[in-house]
Amino acid sequence: MTQPRHHDIVIIGGGAAGTSVAASLLRQRPQLDVAVIEPSDTHYYQPAFTLVGGGTYKLEDTARPQAQTLPAGATWIRQAVSALHPEQRRVRLDDGVDVHYQTLVVAAGIELNWAAIEGLPEALGHGGVCSNYAPSLARYTWQCIDTLKAGRALFTQPATPIKCAGAPQKIAYLAAHQWQKRQQSHHILAEFYSGMGALFSVPDFVPHLQNVAIDYGIGVNLKHDLIRVDGERHLATFKVTDQDDQSHEIEVPYDLLHVTPPQRAPRFVRESALANEGGWLRVDAHTLQNPDYPEVFSLGDASSLPTSKTAAAVRKQAPVLVENLLAHLDHQPRSAHYDGYTSCPLVTGYGEVMLAEFTYGGTVTPTLPLNPFKRSRFYWVVKKHLLPPFYWGYMLKGKEGDIAHKVRA
Ligand SMILES: Cc1cc2nc3c(=O)[nH]c(=O)nc-3n(C[C@H](O)[C@H](O)[C@H](O)COP(=O)(O)OP(=O)(O)OC[C@H]3O[C@@H](n4cnc5c(N)ncnc54)[C@H](O)[C@@H]3O)c2cc1C
Repeated sequence: MTQPRHHDIVIIGGGAAGTSVAASLLRQRPQLDVAVIEPSDTHYYQPAFTLVGGGTYKLEDTARPQAQTLPAGATWIRQAVSALHPEQRRVRLDDGVDVHYQTLVVAAGIELNWAAIEGLPEALGHGGVCSNYAPSLARYTWQCIDTLKAGRALFTQPATPIKCAGAPQKIAYLAAHQWQKRQQSHHILAEFYSGMGALFSVPDFVPHLQNVAIDYGIGVNLKHDLIRVDGERHLATFKVTDQDDQSHEIEVPYDLLHVTPPQRAPRFVRESALANEGGWLRVDAHTLQNPDYPEVFSLGDASSLPTSKTAAAVRKQAPVLVENLLAHLDHQPRSAHYDGYTSCPLVTGYGEVMLAEFTYGGTVTPTLPLNPFKRSRFYWVVKKHLLPPFYWGYMLKGKEGDIAHKVRA
């Protein structure tokens, strides 16, 4: 039987959030005993998956070895966590070993639930069924867009919370722009189907995004949730919910089907005493600390933070969590405060991005004094060329200098 382990600070997940927090803690206090539990040997820059699917970014450039991205001073435990036992301050690993902690940070991201859509696991990756939500499939998205000359292209968004809520429509705009440039648009019917009741969660952006869809001739179908894919017959089935909350099913034929899968918190989080009613790791929306177990913190996609799940949100959450965690270790009051900032570069075509930045309650808070509703060439350059090196070389290194965002007048 393998001996249990102990580390002062245990971080579950070495993605955007876990790596940023580990690096920042060790920059500030190199003597800390920090362990990161992370099963994967590759760290992906996921925000560029949209550009990979759009044929304008190399998949190889989104990936780096985990051994290079985790901070040198952290212990890497290359395992997955299977259970949390907060009352005993320990986590159980997949191989049965227990890891004890003094302070825990849960940053395990979000689970993609492909199997929630009947027939999808079998249909994915061939016959025109693609997704930017898995690196192994993003290149196939581009192949599907590039080779479609005529027919019907469907782009879906589920009714669950997802990471980067703009990503399902961004790829629709890139595809439509591509077909427009090739003068194929009149042979291709492009449609967006969302299980949600609005095109975007922040009402101020909705009319501007509706105009983008209209400009490309993309049909928008809200409250249409993909529930079944018949890959043999190229048929997608949607559950349609009407205004009286009555639902019925419709079948739509497709030649290209870009699927954003339903998503949920990782199983070990959902099944733990630390989960809220939605299954997310329960934390205070401003301090990022669990109300019942003050030695437990969480951030990023796995957390209950009621904001849009993005790497940009993690960039603002990590410094707050680190400051409050260090204050907790020092028995000082928690003073750092997260305002819900998140941002989504809404790619509206090749060479143009509408940058949605907002805080809790959907308050629009741009960082730069530019019109956030304008389709901007400058923000495309930021998205494609500036944010990736910033992510690898700055955010993941735990550097925390920042430009403040402001409420838009
Ligand atoms: C197609 C797409 C487009 C996106 N576009 C944008 C964008 O334009 N802008 C933006 O800001 N964000 C974007 N995002 C979202 C962004 O990538 C995530 O919000 C961000 O990575 C969240 O960080 P995280 O650390 O919480 O999760 P992740 O970065 O996903 O990391 C979670 C880590 O936990 C690990 N893990 C999982 N289960 C376990 C376990 N049981 N035990 C231990 N470790 C575990 C995983 O292996 C992973 O390394 C996009 C995402 C996708 C998929």
